[in-house]
Amino acid sequence: MYGEILFTQLNDFIFCPASIYFHMLYGETDRMLYQSQSQIRGTDAHKTIDSGNYSTRKNILTGLSVYCEEFGLIGKIDLYDAEKRLLMERKRTVKVIYDGYVFQVYAQCFALREMGYEVEKIVIHSLTDNKNYAVPLPEKDEKMLEKFKQTIYDIRTFRLDEFEQTNIEKCKNCIYEPACDRGVV
Ligand code: SF4
Repeated sequence: MYGEILFTQLNDFIFCPASIYFHMLYGETDRMLYQSQSQIRGTDAHKTIDSGNYSTRKNILTGLSVYCEEFGLIGKIDLYDAEKRLLMERKRTVKVIYDGYVFQVYAQCFALREMGYEVEKIVIHSLTDNKNYAVPLPEKDEKMLEKFKQTIYDIRTFRLDEFEQTNIEKCKNCIYEPACDRGVV
């Protein structure tokens, strides 16, 4: 189904495979129309990074577009500290470390390593309460790495015409529900 997979699609796919299609369909221009308030605030958490005003220190990379050849993944790294060999993903408020979050940082980690950067620590940072959540490196968590690979395979082999949503709660919380013909609300 896909050539390159966006890092963000790893998370979207776990929420609901059909949501990826709507995400692509509405894209950036209509994002404000479809994105819920909390999701917009989450996006805002990345604004400082994308506009490059977080840090001017030489050893810190932010908002860098990267590509991971091994898995065919494309996206942006949030923050990488070369001195500490630390990869950090900042999100607005984190209560639970979902698998989708871990997959996104794995993607960033693999892409950075392909570019020759060393990653020895991964942290997901919650901005509103200033909490850090350490994520074990992919090679230290065999089960999660397997799930990551399986998700990539599932995305590549996914067929929307065969998909049926069964979890009404997901649809109730989905910004694409009004436009989606797979919804069960
Ligand atoms: S409305 Fe339901 S089926 Fe459609 S994209 Fe959202 S969660 Fe998936």
